[in-house]
Amino acid sequence: MTPRRWPTRSPSNLPVLFVVDHDRTSLDALLSDLSRRFGNDFMVSGETSAAAALGALRELAAGNVPVAVVLLDEAASDFLACVHELHPSAKRVLLVNRDYSSTSPAVQAMTLGRADYHIVRPWADEETAYRAMSEFLSSWTREQKPSFEEFRIVAAEGDSRVLQLHDVMTRFSMPFGFYAAESDQGRRLLDDAGVDATRLPVVIRYDGQVIIDPDLPDLARAIGVNVKNDADACDVAIVGAGPAGLTAAVYAASEGLETVLLERAVSGGQAGTSPLIRNYPGFPHGINGGVLMERTCEQAWLMGAHIVFAQQAVALEERGGDRVVHLLDGSELRARAVVIATGVEWRRLGVPPLEALVGSGVFYGAAASESRAMTDQDVFIVGAGNSAGQAALHLAKYARAVTLLVRGDSVTKSMSSYLVRAVESTPNVLVRHRTEVVDGGGDGSLESITLADRANDTVEEVPANAVFVMIGGEPHTDWLPDEIARDGHGYLVTGGDLLKQPEAHWDQDREPLLLETSVPGVFAAGDIRQGSIKRVASAVGEGATVVRLVHDLLREDEPQPVANLLS
Ligand SMILES: Cc1cc2nc3c(=O)[nH]c(=O)nc-3n(C[C@H](O)[C@H](O)[C@H](O)COP(=O)(O)OP(=O)(O)OC[C@H]3O[C@@H](n4cnc5c(N)ncnc54)[C@H](O)[C@@H]3O)c2cc1C
Repeated sequence: MTPRRWPTRSPSNLPVLFVVDHDRTSLDALLSDLSRRFGNDFMVSGETSAAAALGALRELAAGNVPVAVVLLDEAASDFLACVHELHPSAKRVLLVNRDYSSTSPAVQAMTLGRADYHIVRPWADEETAYRAMSEFLSSWTREQKPSFEEFRIVAAEGDSRVLQLHDVMTRFSMPFGFYAAESDQGRRLLDDAGVDATRLPVVIRYDGQVIIDPDLPDLARAIGVNVKNDADACDVAIVGAGPAGLTAAVYAASEGLETVLLERAVSGGQAGTSPLIRNYPGFPHGINGGVLMERTCEQAWLMGAHIVFAQQAVALEERGGDRVVHLLDGSELRARAVVIATGVEWRRLGVPPLEALVGSGVFYGAAASESRAMTDQDVFIVGAGNSAGQAALHLAKYARAVTLLVRGDSVTKSMSSYLVRAVESTPNVLVRHRTEVVDGGGDGSLESITLADRANDTVEEVPANAVFVMIGGEPHTDWLPDEIARDGHGYLVTGGDLLKQPEAHWDQDREPLLLETSVPGVFAAGDIRQGSIKRVASAVGEGATVVRLVHDLLREDEPQPVANLLS
């Protein structure tokens, strides 16, 4: 079969699905298969060499023809970079032969964000490839300007509130559009809504509802979620809707417990802010943290959890055998058990172009899972603690160069001396003191960072393939009573650790349950807990585990909510 040629301008303006396969027979077969399934909605085209493919892709870019997916059998980084430069929104999919070795070029390309997906061939049947392609195409479609905008936001150019509005809309997967108040369209929208531009931003819902200068509860209400708790009492109150709290809500509600989940903002926690979580099991190409958390939230709701957003827990007390959670709006919630899943406020780099590349060369936290992909790369670690030192030594085994970026004059106060010695004696690890990351970026994946050298008052842009941010965080425990034991850093002490800490005052005639705090019936799950792993999957695991412990506790107060619940 002769491949369909790319048009300089697609007559029907169909987006293009482009294949690069060095084997002509294989290319023809692929084009034929893809045309059969996707030919109505996409223009299917291809080439047998990188040079010809770049020529074609260049023509398509010049003709403003959108390219949705480029399937390529070559993982060379400069080729992938060119494809991305020509068609930044196209999904790059590697066609990989069956080679599951850790040195496969796909491993590095995926970790560094140079490719989005892969397909291993040969595939068992067409449906396997079609299913995968449908996922790639729907991910591309999701990122295009929505054809229907549920919300239109009119804001002044440069208004800092726009970021917050963007975050909330994205976390709820709301199709929305932004319009500058100074633009023709913005002015028309305000006119049609019958408001002027004196108080911005203005949020206009598809049904005509207008919200002027909304706060978080206003927005949450307009989106259709609960912001007021109307339950007086429940079996279990869960505070915090990150991965730990949401999972606890899924399990508690599905196992018949009256469950109320309270969240001060919107669902997702820290995980919800990550554009790409690469290490969550079951998602080999990674998953957008917001999407993962939104699905978990819907699951908790469908299981029957009562979810309340924009409602902060401000205090907790014991009253007559119950635990009472006090909310910011002055209301109270009585619960037989409480799960605290309020997580940690991670210190962020605060450099917007780098935040946009989290998961694609910018990583918060430990580096072990990414280390092999760092082979021969230039890697930077921001931080001066032991975890930063350990990560530097580990990554130095693979990377061409590892640079520790340290804000202060020395690492000796924050890093153990054995690590300092090891760092100093490792030839490819460099420490730059009094240095901060002030900018950076890359086209789809990290390419460079800008460093401010505070000692010499200079600024320098350096090439960078990966940055690991390890600057710690503060646990959200300031709202809790003193009786709930914390360690020296404010994390909640639980289970057997309470017995090792005399000041925790565990005075029950039973041992504390695994995730129980020093106040019986109050549990902790996820990052907030002393010794927690600080990972999405571990927070999810603790969220599921804690519900079993809540059952164990409540079992003492018969009858059980569900008779055959747990053996
Ligand atoms: C940018 C970034 C990227 C990351 N990437 C990865 C990754 O790729 N893989 C990985 O495994 N881990 C990753 N992590 C770590 C992971 O996100 C956390 O380990 C995980 O989110 C912890 O879940 P949690 O439920 O314990 O707490 P959190 O996710 O922190 O959720 C806590 C929730 O509690 C709410 N809350 C706090 N106080 C109150 C209160 N008083 N009342 C009501 N609600 C309250 C907060 O608003 C928040 O929604 C990343 C973290 C960051 C910051």
